[in-house]
Amino acid sequence: MAENGAEHERTLAFAEIALSQIKALRQPAIPRNYEVWYAYATGYNPSLNQTINETLQKNGNLADEDLERVYSTYLSPARLTEKLDKVGSRVMDEINQVMAMVDTAVGTASTYHESLADMTSKLGSAKDRDGIRSIIESLVQTASEMQNNNNQLEERLNASRQEISQLQQNLETVRHESLTDPLTSLSNRKHFDTSIAKSLHEATERNEPMSLIMTDIDHFKSFNDTWGHLTGDQVLRLVAMSMKQNVKGQDIAARYGGEEFAVVLPNTVLRSGVTVGDHIRRAVMSKELMKRSTGQNLGRVTVSVGVATARHGDTVQSLIARADGCLYAAKRNGRNRVICETDPEFSAGAEAKVA
Ligand code: GH3
Ligand code: MG
Ligand code: MG
Repeated sequence: MAENGAEHERTLAFAEIALSQIKALRQPAIPRNYEVWYAYATGYNPSLNQTINETLQKNGNLADEDLERVYSTYLSPARLTEKLDKVGSRVMDEINQVMAMVDTAVGTASTYHESLADMTSKLGSAKDRDGIRSIIESLVQTASEMQNNNNQLEERLNASRQEISQLQQNLETVRHESLTDPLTSLSNRKHFDTSIAKSLHEATERNEPMSLIMTDIDHFKSFNDTWGHLTGDQVLRLVAMSMKQNVKGQDIAARYGGEEFAVVLPNTVLRSGVTVGDHIRRAVMSKELMKRSTGQNLGRVTVSVGVATARHGDTVQSLIARADGCLYAAKRNGRNRVICETDPEFSAGAEAKVA
């Protein structure tokens, strides 16, 4: 109860600061602005505070676009940046603690050094056995304190090594999350965009082939309308799994958009790209769908596939446009098929567009 009360007081203080900022700067008191100022008041996100402080210093206020920028950078639903900031500040805390520990150890070592020197000089002028014994006792005492300090430092450094390796794993998880589509666990659009640009660049540099597959589920709208969006989501997972099972090595299978998928195939000629595309198509149509809750048979879904290969002078856009053109030729020609850029169906479509 007492804890609840403390939490109430603490959060109320943040809320009051947030509201007073909104009032002072005469901003619209909408949830987004409140969230920005609340986060600012807590100070949990140092980068957010720094951005706001710099903007305030420069412009004296936060314009709507500044608030939007701060919100989308630091507070948007995924909040990956916030997670990264947390890891970052934990790393900083860890480093600071270890540095403080090292400073203390250095201090202790120099005190130790001084007392050793002091005792050595006392030893030189010691007159009798008792005097020597008492100096030696102090020496042993000082040495054992030093030993204790060293042990503590070693323990702390070991703990710190473990903490940092844990943080490294956290960072890896966040990085992976930021590149993965949550529904299908395939690469997301952002990862696709960087992968295709990198792969095209490397293919050009090394004079190697590379191909691109674009896939779209056939009549998916009617599937969703008949069986519901959640069952539709299961189908997206199933198509994703069929893709994963048919790509390997450096290939990047990604969710390109709603029910569209893509595979970047480095070091792959068109013919091999068509083979991969056909394996995916067959894998999808081979699966009979079952509604788990009712055991009802939902039939099968199919996909249409377009495949293009990089040409001299291609940009990412021109390569995607050709693979997309092939995909739509596959749709026009009856769906559940693979069309590549050397097929007459694709050129027929291209001519039709020009005409
Ligand atoms: P076509 O064979 O020409 O591709 O027909 P289609 O019905 O698949 O094409 P259309 O583009 O008209 O419909 C795409 C549908 O995909 C619309 C929407 O219902 C569905 N869809 C897109 N994203 C998702 C998603 O994330 N989950 C689910 N369940 N459905 C989605
Ligand atoms: Mg579509
Ligand atoms: Mg479709």
